[in-house]
Amino acid sequence: MATLTFAQARASVLAKVAEARATAAVEELPILQAAGRVLAERLLADRDYPPFPRSARDGFAVRAADLPGELRITGEVRAGESFQGQVHAGEAVEIMTGAPLPNGADSVVMIEHVAVNNGSVNVPRTLSPGENVSPRGCEARAAEALLDPGRLLGFAEIALLATVGHAQVSVFSKPRVAIIATGDEIVELNQKPLDYQIRNSNAQSLAAQVARAGGCPNILPIARDNYDATRELVEQGLRDDLLLLSGGVSAGKYDIVERVLADLGAEFFFDRVLIQPGQPLVFGRVRGKFFFGLPGNPASTMVTFEVFARAALEILGGQTESMLPLLSAKLTRDFRQKPGLTRFLPARLSENGSEVEPVRWQGSGDVPALTRANAFLVTEQDREHWVAGDWIQVLMK
Ligand code: AMP
Ligand code: MG
Repeated sequence: MATLTFAQARASVLAKVAEARATAAVEELPILQAAGRVLAERLLADRDYPPFPRSARDGFAVRAADLPGELRITGEVRAGESFQGQVHAGEAVEIMTGAPLPNGADSVVMIEHVAVNNGSVNVPRTLSPGENVSPRGCEARAAEALLDPGRLLGFAEIALLATVGHAQVSVFSKPRVAIIATGDEIVELNQKPLDYQIRNSNAQSLAAQVARAGGCPNILPIARDNYDATRELVEQGLRDDLLLLSGGVSAGKYDIVERVLADLGAEFFFDRVLIQPGQPLVFGRVRGKFFFGLPGNPASTMVTFEVFARAALEILGGQTESMLPLLSAKLTRDFRQKPGLTRFLPARLSENGSEVEPVRWQGSGDVPALTRANAFLVTEQDREHWVAGDWIQVLMK
C-alpha cells in the first residue's frame, strides 16, 4: 500500500477531507460562547465603518488650507457627540479622539502641536487634508461581507461580531470523534496495572487534542488485540464523525486494525508516512467516515494527531483552512540525523521564540520528555546535519 512523504500525506488528508466536506449541523450561540468555534454564516457590515469621519487624535478640527495660522476656537466636540455647526475659514473646533469631524473641517491637528491662548489656537505647521481623520467607510462599507462561513472565531472575530451588533452567531456543531485505544497490555485508569501492563494514556491525550481542535471526544473501551473485539468497537466508532484508533497498525502479528477496516470495506489513502515518530500511519474512509490508525507509541500518537488528524477534524468542523503552527528558530547546538525521514523531535523554544534546543529523550515511548518540551523540531527529510546557529523549523506544541 501507499508510503508517502510528510508533505504528500498532509496534502492527501487536506484534499480528501475538503473534497468530501459534509454539510455539518449548525447551532446558534451567544457571542460569549462563540470563541474557538467556526462561523457558519456570512457576516455583513450593518453600516459603514467608521460610520462617520472619525478623529484619530485629541486636538483641533481645522481646514488644512488655513494652515499655518491663528484660528478662532468656535466650540468643542467629544466622542459620543456631534458638532452642530460648521467650521468656516479661520476657525477651529476642539476635538477628542473618536469624535466625528465637524462639517467644514478636513483634518485634525494634534493638541501637542499647537499653542492655545485666549479663545484662539496657533498652528505653526501645515497639514494635508484628511490628516488624523479616518474617513467614513474606510474600514468597511455597509453590506460588505466581513467574514465568510468557515472562519475560526478568535478574539478579533469576536470583536467584529460585537462591532456589527451580533449578540448571537451561528456556528457549526462540533464534530464527534470516536477514540479507540488498542492493545492487550493497556489498562484503564481505574485499574492497577500489573508489571507488564501500561495505562491508557493515548485515549486521554487524544481526547485533550480533539477538544483543543474543536471536536467532541468520545472515548470508547479499549480494543483488545483480537479481530472480533476490534471489529465491534470500530463499528461502534463509525457512528461518530471521525474515528481515531491508536496502536495495532505496525507490522506485528497482533496488529489487526488494518485487517478489520479492510473487511469493513475501507478505502485506504496511505498506510505509511516517512516521518518519525510515527511511520506506520493509516488514513482512509469507510462507510462514509474518515479514520486514522495512529501508531500506539505515545509520542507517535500525539505527533501524528497534531500534523494529520487535527487538519481533518478542523475541516470536518467546517473550517476552510487548517494551519500548522510552524516557525523558524536557531538551533542552540549541532544536530545530526540519518536522512530519509521528516522528524518531529521534542524541543524547547526560548521565551522570545528565537532559539530552539532539542530535549533529551529516550524515544517515542518517553512521555515525561514530552512534558519537558514546548515545541517540536521539524527536520527536513533529506538533510543530514545542522550546526549551532542554523535555522530550523519548529512546530508549536
Ligand atoms: P503498537 O502501535 O500497538 O505496536 O504500540 C506501540 C507502543 O505503544 C507499545 O509499547 C504500546 O504498549 C504503547 N501503547 C499502545 N497503546 C497505548 C496507549 N493507549 N497508551 C499508552 N501506551 C500505548
Ligand atoms: Mg499494540
